Amino acid sequence: MKKQFAVIGLGGFGESVALELMRLGHDVLGIDCSEDKANRMADKLTQTVIANASDEEALRELDLHRFDAVLIAIGEHIEVSVLCTMHVISLEAKEVWVKAITPTHHKIVEKLGASRVFHPEYEMGLRVAQSLAHPNMLDYISLGDNYFVIEIRPGEVLEDRPLSELRIDDKEVRLLAIKHGQSVSLNPSPDQRLRRNDHLVLVGEEEALRHFSENL
Ligand code: ADP
Repeated sequence: MKKQFAVIGLGGFGESVALELMRLGHDVLGIDCSEDKANRMADKLTQTVIANASDEEALRELDLHRFDAVLIAIGEHIEVSVLCTMHVISLEAKEVWVKAITPTHHKIVEKLGASRVFHPEYEMGLRVAQSLAHPNMLDYISLGDNYFVIEIRPGEVLEDRPLSELRIDDKEVRLLAIKHGQSVSLNPSPDQRLRRNDHLVLVGEEEALRHFSENL
């Protein structure tokens, strides 16, 4: 279903989110105080508007309550981001997502009532560190309570060997799926053989997953 989004701040981050939402088939209103930025994005988004995000009246004219979600992607000036969050919430936007750049910024916008706050640079930093420390881990999701879903590339020695030889102890680590390119097979059977470039998708506690994947 086609959704309506507003992205306030078309810097590197806001621009990439807005373009991806368009690629996914949604409508995006892009807002930036820079005429240059707004004009550059004009033919790539459904609509662009030049407006100051800290000006409540300018925001009111955009009827932000009619959007499925509003993303505030202004990292450079915390004060503008905080004021904009306050206005967008008081204008009764349904869902307000905010990019924060410091823990204090995060706390303030959370207290103001932002639906979701994230730190792209910090979160990306954690991912890059994890990838450097565990090169065969391609992706992960934290489930909380020290549980993770991870995608790993097993060593070539396992090629053409049945999954039963991996000796997955189902109390500690579970195999959820095998990925091969774009195709995914859920709950693979133990006699399925691993092909070159297959990836394993596993769930378990961090320590058990580390132990399991280091021995692959
Ligand atoms: P990034 O790190 O994603 O590039 P920046 O914080 O550098 O993020 O960019 C934020 C964007 O927000 C810029 O395009 C800038 O022009 C815009 N911006 C900054 N202040 C305002 C404001 N008061 N109103 C609207 N847009 C703003």
